[in-house]
Amino acid sequence: MSRMLTPILNQTSRSILSHRLLPRSIPPSSLKANFSSTSFRLLATPQTGPQTVSSQPTRTPNPMESSVKQEWPDYSKGPSALDKAAQLFFFTEILRGMWIVLEQFFRPPYTIMYPFEKGPLSPRFRGEHALRRYPNGEERCIACKLCEAICPAQAITIESEAREDGSRRTTRYDIDMTKCIYCGFCQEACPVDAIVETQNAEYSTETREELLYNKEKLLSNGDRAEAEIAANLQADHVSFCPA
Ligand code: SF4
Ligand code: SF4
Repeated sequence: MSRMLTPILNQTSRSILSHRLLPRSIPPSSLKANFSSTSFRLLATPQTGPQTVSSQPTRTPNPMESSVKQEWPDYSKGPSALDKAAQLFFFTEILRGMWIVLEQFFRPPYTIMYPFEKGPLSPRFRGEHALRRYPNGEERCIACKLCEAICPAQAITIESEAREDGSRRTTRYDIDMTKCIYCGFCQEACPVDAIVETQNAEYSTETREELLYNKEKLLSNGDRAEAEIAANLQADHVSFCPA
């Protein structure tokens, strides 16, 4: 039965192979003609040339048999027993340790005696907030509310109204300093440099209410630190905008 079906299946396989399954780039004549009579598993296997199978098993190269010899440090060469005995007898390690302590004793200290001594601060340091005025005493803020909009902590509350001369000014400018995260976004967003963060970081209070700043408090902060704020803005401008 199997002998009778073999030519039929071979013919069927060739027909399918040449008309349906093979891509046009592979000619059917290049494929193996003798197919298995029980499956089509060889249909898509092109016979590109005679294949030689070695009777010897393939040997995986052993990395340990490399021709380059590994050089290992020789740990047997160290201080001699006499050297070790001399170090122990004369306390040389203790003397070396004491010399390091003596060196550090006469060096300038790495720490400062805060609050009597203070370290340098960057002109970009972000501390307590302040509202600035122009030299003629007019407040800079034009109540555009950009700082209120950009504040990620929603710490700023602004109310405004138009004056008789048509200019717009704030009637209320509050900052909840307990919410503030000192990101500096309000300062960056302000088009007239009205709200700034000063270099004052020493304004701790005993009650939470004292950290709810209103417009008068912010303006007084600005009046007190105007010279420092202007110098820092100028230093920042000159340092980073040389043109
Ligand atoms: S520093 Fe940041 S969190 Fe604080 S008021 Fe300004 S925008 Fe808000
Ligand atoms: S402080 Fe500046 S950003 Fe905020 S409302 Fe006034 S002008 Fe606008």
